[in-house]
Amino acid sequence: MTATTATQTPPASLHAPVIGWFDQHARDLPWRRPEAGAWGVMVSEFMLQQTPVNRVLPVYEQWLARWPRPADLAAEPPGEAVRAWGRLGYPRRALRLHGAAQAITERHGGDVPSEHAQLLALPGIGEYTAAAVASFAYRQRHAVLDTNVRRVFARAATGIQYPPNATTAAERRLARELLPDEDERAARWAAATMELGALVCTAKNEDCSRCPIAEQCAWRLAGKPAHQGPPRRGQTYAG
Ligand code: SF4
Repeated sequence: MTATTATQTPPASLHAPVIGWFDQHARDLPWRRPEAGAWGVMVSEFMLQQTPVNRVLPVYEQWLARWPRPADLAAEPPGEAVRAWGRLGYPRRALRLHGAAQAITERHGGDVPSEHAQLLALPGIGEYTAAAVASFAYRQRHAVLDTNVRRVFARAATGIQYPPNATTAAERRLARELLPDEDERAARWAAATMELGALVCTAKNEDCSRCPIAEQCAWRLAGKPAHQGPPRRGQTYAG
């Protein structure tokens, strides 16, 4: 891995085009609407970990209609969560979400906590999900590093086609360097980079002609050198 700790392009020059693109092209997804709240964001993050958006959507809607608050889910046996998980795959996630709902009910009076450390202390929640909920729901400044964001940063900033199989300290450092200073803008940047990776800078057949940072992308400017790291693990979508 040849990740850099500093970008050749000043981070701020990436912010406006990526956020501007997001303002115009972001998908209207229910967990992005204000009414989703922190619980909706958390549910979506559990479901989206290994399942694509189109399969998550119907289950997400049913889940939130049945259990609009963490306490509603916590009051039911874990088996009900697994049953409602349906065909999303990897049903252990349903049990983890149920465990997190119980802990939220017991420790936080039924409200999803807003502090990153408190989120991280919940069962079943790792660094990524804690950062995602704090950023997307509470509009805080956190580096949110999922597969899509890591790929965009690897290409645009580091100049390589794919990030390493597991997230490295260098990637976390780079992600922090790239974060806008202000909270709301950082939250928007997190969602925008994720969407850019999902819709334009995809794993295969990236569409640089539609990319708002094509003129600054280190990998594209270098002539798109071929991947030289270890073989990549496949995308682990369920089913
Ligand atoms: S220019 Fe192409 S490779 Fe670079 S970030 Fe944009 S879509 Fe990805």
